[in-house]
Amino acid sequence: MAAMERLRKKGIKLTPQRLAILEYLEGNTAHPTAEDVHAAVRKRHPTMSHATVYNTLRTLRDHGEVLELTIDPGRKHYDPNTQPHHHIICVGCGSIADVFQDFDVSIPEELDREYEILGSQIEFHGLCRDCRGKTGG
Ligand SMILES: [Zn+2]
Ligand SMILES: [Zn+2]
Repeated sequence: MAAMERLRKKGIKLTPQRLAILEYLEGNTAHPTAEDVHAAVRKRHPTMSHATVYNTLRTLRDHGEVLELTIDPGRKHYDPNTQPHHHIICVGCGSIADVFQDFDVSIPEELDREYEILGSQIEFHGLCRDCRGKTGG
């Protein structure tokens, strides 16, 4: 697992609990919240605390192994896919999906001169198929 190797090389201690969190996140495209991660890993690690999950997610974020998404104003979501991509959130149920299309985004010239642009993220808001069904649309 690539993330584990990189963390080991950085001297990050990989406890069984941290490994369980990493394993859960690996290839996960559901953009789980910390609560989702906790609920999932607690099944096999009943003593896993909220604090361990939060601290581990923060460590992974700080080391660039997980993206912390703020598209949902209520809760942070986590994404193990750290390649630049965009997201769409359903305003009905809060589900988040990846948007892998490239958009030609440019900013005004004066800002471009002032800043070295490192990246950009586009957030789409919509209603998913399920939520549209519920409202009869
Ligand atoms: Zn929805
Ligand atoms: Zn994503």
